[in-house]
Amino acid sequence: MTDLEAALRRAVRGEVGFDVTSRALTTMDASNYRRVPLGVVAPTDADDVAAVLEVCRERGVPVVARGGGTSIAGQATGTGVVLDFTRHMNRLVALDPQTRTAVVQPGLVLDRLQDAAAPHGLRFGPDPSTHSRCTLGGMIGNNSCGSHSVAWGTTADSVRELSVLTARGRRLRLGQEWAGAPEGLRELVDGDLARLRTGFPDLPRRISGYALDALLPENGADVARSFCGSEGTLGVLTEAVVRLVESPRARALAVLGYADEAGAAEAAAGLLPLGPLTVEGMAVDLVPSTEGLPRGGAWLFVETGGATEAEARARAEAVVRAADVVDALVVTDPAGQRTLWRIREDASGTATRMPDGSEAWPGWEDCAVPPARLGGYLRDFRSLLSAHDLRGTPYGHFGDGCIHVRIDFDLLTDAGVARFRRFSEELADVVVAHGGSLSGEHGDGQARAELLPRMYGAETVALFERAKAVWDPDDLLNPGMLVRPAPLDTNLRFSVLPREPVDVAFGYPSDGGDFSAAVRRCVGVAKCRTTSVSGTGVMCPSFRATGDEQHSTRGRARLLHEMLAGELVTDGWRSTEVRDALDLCLSCKGCRSDCPVEVDMATYKAEFLHHHYEGRRRPAAHYAMGWLPVWLRWAARTRTAPVVNALASVRPLAAVAKRLGGIAGEREVPRLAGETFSRWWRRRRRGPAGDGDLVVLWPDTFTEHLSPSVGRAAVRVLEAAGLRVALPPTLRGRGVIGDGTSKSALALLTARRGQVCCGLTYVSTGQLDRARTVMRRTLDLMAPVLETSAPVVVLEPSCAAALRTDLPELLHDDPRAARLASRVLTFAEALERHAPHWTPPAVNLPAVGQTHCHQHAVLGDAADRRLRESAGLRGELCGGCCGLAGNFGFEEGHYEVSAACAEDQLLPAVREAPDGAVVLADGFSCRTQLEQLAGVRGRHLAEVLAEELEKE
Ligand SMILES: Cc1cc2nc3c(=O)[nH]c(=O)nc-3n(C[C@H](O)[C@H](O)[C@H](O)COP(=O)(O)OP(=O)(O)OC[C@H]3O[C@@H](n4cnc5c(N)ncnc54)[C@H](O)[C@@H]3O)c2cc1C
Ligand code: SF4
Ligand code: SF4
Repeated sequence: MTDLEAALRRAVRGEVGFDVTSRALTTMDASNYRRVPLGVVAPTDADDVAAVLEVCRERGVPVVARGGGTSIAGQATGTGVVLDFTRHMNRLVALDPQTRTAVVQPGLVLDRLQDAAAPHGLRFGPDPSTHSRCTLGGMIGNNSCGSHSVAWGTTADSVRELSVLTARGRRLRLGQEWAGAPEGLRELVDGDLARLRTGFPDLPRRISGYALDALLPENGADVARSFCGSEGTLGVLTEAVVRLVESPRARALAVLGYADEAGAAEAAAGLLPLGPLTVEGMAVDLVPSTEGLPRGGAWLFVETGGATEAEARARAEAVVRAADVVDALVVTDPAGQRTLWRIREDASGTATRMPDGSEAWPGWEDCAVPPARLGGYLRDFRSLLSAHDLRGTPYGHFGDGCIHVRIDFDLLTDAGVARFRRFSEELADVVVAHGGSLSGEHGDGQARAELLPRMYGAETVALFERAKAVWDPDDLLNPGMLVRPAPLDTNLRFSVLPREPVDVAFGYPSDGGDFSAAVRRCVGVAKCRTTSVSGTGVMCPSFRATGDEQHSTRGRARLLHEMLAGELVTDGWRSTEVRDALDLCLSCKGCRSDCPVEVDMATYKAEFLHHHYEGRRRPAAHYAMGWLPVWLRWAARTRTAPVVNALASVRPLAAVAKRLGGIAGEREVPRLAGETFSRWWRRRRRGPAGDGDLVVLWPDTFTEHLSPSVGRAAVRVLEAAGLRVALPPTLRGRGVIGDGTSKSALALLTARRGQVCCGLTYVSTGQLDRARTVMRRTLDLMAPVLETSAPVVVLEPSCAAALRTDLPELLHDDPRAARLASRVLTFAEALERHAPHWTPPAVNLPAVGQTHCHQHAVLGDAADRRLRESAGLRGELCGGCCGLAGNFGFEEGHYEVSAACAEDQLLPAVREAPDGAVVLADGFSCRTQLEQLAGVRGRHLAEVLAEELEKE
């Protein structure tokens, strides 16, 4: 233990983390930069913060405060001690609706403040897109804004008083009229009044530099306001009194379509006199689909407010009338508005990639110009991009002249980094020529601070340096930001990654086969770090269950990044830190669909486990549950299912078996079916074959051995819909498909009986060699099916997802894998595509349950929704993950998190179900979780429909 760590442990009550994991988790924010800290402290109160500052000052160790770590310019990272305010100092201390103020701790997440203010008809004005995870401390640190700043200003406009500790341990209460000003600040201002009056451009979004002009007497000598946007370089905030604004009772959203971006940009400023709440803009190249948007090549999202819906609508319609648009729509219903806003909010994440999926990075994502000059600025900006042969898709707060864009800089090669520098310098000049600010809301950090002299001139920057010296004479707080900045092309997070592709098992088709490229996808947006999820979203259940960054998608991506970098995590694939961070990943694949850049942690986890255990003994659960298909087949062949069930019901025996198999003691071992699905299939009496399409029904391990009733129900429904159902061959070679017995004499002589398997259980436990063997064998068996045009219907969503994605990505060298993947249909998709005229029986009941996480992430649930609707199954299924997630919830040490995930959405939804509701759960895991944790029987949609058919 270092002297620093020991001293901190003695001095503070909060957690002190100098371990590899704690440090790895804070090496980056959402920027291009990476700085490795010495350690992380999670203070419990202001005294803890004071103690950290004292210990660090004595040793000359820098300190950086950190909230959600969503900064885009590197200012939430540091080389000394990181103060993590999100763990303990995250409370709303008080909220007074009378005075419209709230007292907050710095780690409070904005959405929690909004939740508390909403019942009083109030809200905090600024609302960055990261509202679900950004903190008030971070917002004050950056002087954050958001889409409503045309109405409610920046964070500085909403701040009343700030409790701040200086690096030398002084406790200040910052306010107006010099309240709390550190010694020497007033003299500094008084001595340079002329510069302060003329050296700061007048525009709504000037976030660059220190806001020293707020200290002018005519501006109320507002020390609190001036502190906003200081990026943790002047003092550490421990509490804030903030102002709340009245939230309009009703809102309407006018979406205005323009021919192009310049048209939208030029129109934006003209709408401001109409008093809109937002004027947001984006062009067509930013949105994956224009569905739901009015016609046009660019749009303005203009929100209006009112005391009633009619009033808000009337204002929105007035905006449409005043705007010279190609097309427009006005929405007043809240759900419709939310859907449209989600397009805009997701756009900021979408923009982290180019439309063709190639990489794009921040750095110049945040300039602002006077709104009236936006059109001209955008034209100059685009031509500078082309001059440097760069691409980017601008969008942003057009009403405030603030533009966001991610650019396809090459930050991997020296030449690319040199071009990044040249472009940055030239663009800074363009922004300044338009009277603008290098940063319009994200702050300067390391990305823009070096260029501040171009915007402010050397003298004003020298004044910034003197101000910094007044607050922090020892340069202890977040050095390298704002003044005496680190060069913008150093500390780039990519420079530490291996140059050559790493040897891996999966194909990583979207990353050119390069695992480093897959890992560096995570841009730190932190959408995976939220405590609630909207709609049918899934990502990231393990963070929601634990609240620990280590168990978020971002945390895991950071550890993998450090593993590849090899500087902090030094033992590569053998790293126990990476293994532990991945341990609570449910492999739910939620991030694959919900992360704006499609970080696919389930795949990375399988890859890691494959290498981590290469040539070594694995945890017992990998053998017990990874090899589940083998054990179950063995029980079926030997007809010992009843014996296994009987033994499993004897508690002491089950306990021993669970311990040996690495299964959580709290879990019941699922019962094996008395008769497998395919045995039932072989003995059943068949009616005359219909003349509908042939579909091949996949006997997945769960349907086959654990819930054959699902398979039987599916056969009943598919045949009722007029389809001819077959099972995959069980003998290799060119036999007859579909009878499950394949008795041709030649086949019998030359082949061994086998069973198809998607390999899911081997993949999720990282036994990738075995998974490949199983998948190859499956492709051999499926060869005759692949020669036909028959679709393959998979009832278990996990298996369908494995066949669609894991199979082709793992057997990327075998063209048959992609062919089989393309044939896979869910039950609902098969009915919709192959029996389009069939009408399902009318169930006419409310339905609750959960869309399977793999269905959400890989397969989509549109066909399921339509099938449910036409069967009269009313209501929405919830999102999230059931928490059992195949082997995950059964594994020793996972029970608590597994149950917490179920409590996130599924169990509350089922508890609140209306009387007589059908509980739908297509996945075996979800049904097991429901049964074991709530005593509720969930059913596959096929079972519900089959039962109704029986009644007819
Ligand atoms: C996809 C995306 C979209 C975004 N959209 C917006 C947007 O619409 N509007 C906007 O304004 N920003 C936006 N941002 C930037 C960022 O999310 C905001 O600035 C946010 O408010 C930062 O909050 P945080 O809790 O993550 O702070 P952090 O990143 O953790 O910290 C921000 C700064 O504040 C300092 N700080 C944190 N706590 C303290 C403290 N207690 N005392 C002193 N200093 C402290 C830090 O040192 C750092 O310099 C976006 C970022 C991303 C990735
Ligand atoms: S995993 Fe995705 S959502 Fe999470 S921080 Fe990384 S990019 Fe953002
Ligand atoms: S697979 Fe699921 S649990 Fe794992 S990181 Fe992604 S969202 Fe989180």
